[in-house]
Amino acid sequence: FVTNYLLGKLQPGYGNYVYASAHDTTDQIENQTRLHRFATRDELTGLRNRHALESDIESLLQLSNRYDEELSTIMFDLDHFKSVNDTYGHDAGDEVLKTLARESEKILRTSDYLYRVGGEEFLILLPKTNLIGAEIVAEKLRFAIESVDFPIVHKLTISLGVVEHLQSESLRQLMIRADKALYEAKNQGRNKVVTHQANKTQRTKMIEWHDEFNCGVSELDLQHQTLIQKGNELIELNGINAPKDQIDEILNQLYGLI
Ligand code: GH3
Ligand code: MG
Ligand code: MG
Repeated sequence: FVTNYLLGKLQPGYGNYVYASAHDTTDQIENQTRLHRFATRDELTGLRNRHALESDIESLLQLSNRYDEELSTIMFDLDHFKSVNDTYGHDAGDEVLKTLARESEKILRTSDYLYRVGGEEFLILLPKTNLIGAEIVAEKLRFAIESVDFPIVHKLTISLGVVEHLQSESLRQLMIRADKALYEAKNQGRNKVVTHQANKTQRTKMIEWHDEFNCGVSELDLQHQTLIQKGNELIELNGINAPKDQIDEILNQLYGLI
């Protein structure tokens, strides 16, 4: 009989014999694949979703932090998309989103990751790419989209924010900076690429935890480590001129600890 997956079992028998049994697990594996795809893919465009971003980023940030590998992000958003829905209807808007997804994929390398992170907001992770390289990709994408003949609406543009991942930066901090750059691109009149150049000196300004700081009481050591971690978050948010409410949030957490 023909099958794609078999689950087998071997057991020692008497003398020179072994007992072998196997059963067909094709349905089970295919169901798992379908479920996994559903959990990590956006239904409308087939692109990776936010869920996938959160699991992918963990391993990419580890590589970036541990081996100092470059990693950049592009966040982009359709310009005046609301008026597409208002003028031509939601279904027309959905068609536009699908076309945008396919056209964006054409520009990227297979090693790049493209996500739909919101209704009409997309994010690209570019491993082994610095800010300059990412800016080139962003500009290429901006130009390509500007040149697409979209269904029904014909012409549409996107605005893009570009950032390079900094040592020890979290996904949240990276996304705040990408969002700021995108916001700036909208402010500058849309159909624009804006890069966010973080203050590089912050790489050396972080407070590092050393083993000799341990007093031996694990509860206290954990509290001290948390204080330092929150301190670092404040330094980082300050370095990227984060919005006041983001800084207040960390400050309040810090007040709660002391
Ligand atoms: P801006 O240039 O500032 O980005 O303007 P905008 O109109 O694109 O931005 P805004 O955030 O005000 O509107 C986004 C719109 O995207 C709102 C909503 O109607 C539309 N939208 C979000 N998700 C979907 C979707 O899944 N399908 C469709 N058709 N429209 C969506
Ligand atoms: Mg938007
Ligand atoms: Mg928009």
